[in-house]
Amino acid sequence: MGSVNRDKEFNTGINTRVIHHQENFSKDTGSIMPPIFPTSTFVHGNEGGFDYTRSGNPNFRILESVLCDLEECQFASVFSSGVAAITAIVSSLKNGDLILCEENLYGCTVRLFEQVFSRFGIKTLWVDFTKSNFQEIISKHKPTMIWIESPTNPLLKIIDIEKICHFSKKMQIPVVVDNTFATPLLQRPLKLGATLSLTSTTKYINGHSDALGGAVCTESIEWRDKLNFAQKALGLNPSPFDCWLITRGIKTLPLRLEKQIANASKIADLLANNQAIKSIRYPFRNDHPQCKLAQKQMAMGGAIVTATVNATQVQTYKLCKSLHFFKMAESLGGIESLVCHPATMTHASVSEETKLKIGITGSLIRFSVGCEDIEDLSADLKQALGNIS
Ligand code: PLP
Repeated sequence: MGSVNRDKEFNTGINTRVIHHQENFSKDTGSIMPPIFPTSTFVHGNEGGFDYTRSGNPNFRILESVLCDLEECQFASVFSSGVAAITAIVSSLKNGDLILCEENLYGCTVRLFEQVFSRFGIKTLWVDFTKSNFQEIISKHKPTMIWIESPTNPLLKIIDIEKICHFSKKMQIPVVVDNTFATPLLQRPLKLGATLSLTSTTKYINGHSDALGGAVCTESIEWRDKLNFAQKALGLNPSPFDCWLITRGIKTLPLRLEKQIANASKIADLLANNQAIKSIRYPFRNDHPQCKLAQKQMAMGGAIVTATVNATQVQTYKLCKSLHFFKMAESLGGIESLVCHPATMTHASVSEETKLKIGITGSLIRFSVGCEDIEDLSADLKQALGNIS
């Protein structure tokens, strides 16, 4: 029930598609914006086929339709958060199944796998997909599923989605790509061969830091059914109002992202030239280790910049606190710039040993660059970095 199934043709531009989406359930009134359906239940036998909001609601369907437009795919299922979307996928596995994971995933994905699903017998194996000979590992361990992010949170590693999917397809292993950092505007994992493209719609897709949501896009009808089953069976559904907010947010996604990316690439240059900064990561800069792959795989470099400061953990934390326009907060992707100290925030639940192994040190900072005037963001960074040097 909760997803869109239509043989769509995507023959209008992306800016047009995100504004003029197809379904809006307002035919009788002509309202430009769709109504909100804050109802828990529906009269049995209605034309729309709605039944109970845990298993579907017009606002879910509208959002799913726009997400299909964005991703250029047939099916999308929406959830109450990115973590709920992850839960929906993993809940389709069973005791003894193995997920082969990129070693740098979002901290709460790691926590969910290692502290929750492991208790149900689901196993994980962590590898560095930028270095390891993944073909050998896949052939040896025959995982049930492969789980990657690209760019990764927070290290911005770029993983070769097409190469991994090409190999996994031969072995019929589904590949999940968490596309939260890139969004379908910069990268469409399903076109690169992924089975499932997952997004925390809390971030860029909504863009206004006022709602939580998650979505999974796919071309597979079997996966669409599994995801919709998880939505209703596990109660992972979003609220109609949050779907409405996210649907509204999407209308400005291309505009917001363009501005955020322009700002981010300037912030990356500014940081790279500052003595207080030891190293920076931005996918489209020549000094990024996978820059060539990023330029092939992504349309633009994104709006997240990661930097290692020439300072101790305490000084780095103070630096984050001393910024004015970059608010120190969890999350990313909104129009307001945010700064995060991954070691003590997004990845606090990851073991110290793992953090050290993969490079999430106390001196690492993640910037989510917003839509403010670049002069103000630059001045803010310069004053805070000045305190360090
Ligand atoms: N995936 C990535 C890459 C994230 O950064 C996040 C949240 O920061 C999530 C998934 C989880 O999303 P949510 O916070 O909406 O549950």
